[in-house]
Amino acid sequence: MAPYQSLEEYNIDITNDVKERYERIIDEIGEDVSREGLVKTPERAAKAMLFLTQGYKQNAVEILKGAMFKESYDEMVIIKDIELYSLCEHHMLPFFGKAHIAYIPNGYIVGLSKIPRIVDVFARRLQVQERLTHDILECLNNTLKPQGVAVVIEASHMCMMMRGVQKQNSVTTTSGFRGQFEKIETRNEFLKLISSNLS
Ligand SMILES: [Zn+2]
Repeated sequence: MAPYQSLEEYNIDITNDVKERYERIIDEIGEDVSREGLVKTPERAAKAMLFLTQGYKQNAVEILKGAMFKESYDEMVIIKDIELYSLCEHHMLPFFGKAHIAYIPNGYIVGLSKIPRIVDVFARRLQVQERLTHDILECLNNTLKPQGVAVVIEASHMCMMMRGVQKQNSVTTTSGFRGQFEKIETRNEFLKLISSNLS
């Protein structure tokens, strides 16, 4: 089922309420809501906002637990270049980039497709990049209980690029390490393996 459909199906009241508020905003900034190109904009904007914040209704722990498998493999597992789109909680403007995640199993592995899903669950909320990094790190660490976990996020923030300082090319990097990755040699091995992607 497409995410938009499920939202329309289950949240008609909320969608309508958000839509009315967007109508107000468009009017307040001096636009004509009845103009042809804008007639359906409040509804589209409401659906987009609800889609981009659907992570509040999703449970990352359940997603992980549903795809954990007993496995004796105990080398580093790395998922690089996970596309990431989120909204900064200060301006409600997008920030976007890539996440690089690694873990060292401790009796259990997790279906690889679940890691990007976990990223989405936490990214589709109002976030700051630091907390997003921490949320993903702690969720993997507490649920999978691996020997170690590492999360690196590189992102560009529209609130920096479009307004204020207008630093168009700046990329913010955040990282978090638990367990084995707190050891400098393990951490360096991980950073070396993803370094072709670091700006
Ligand atoms: Zn911001």
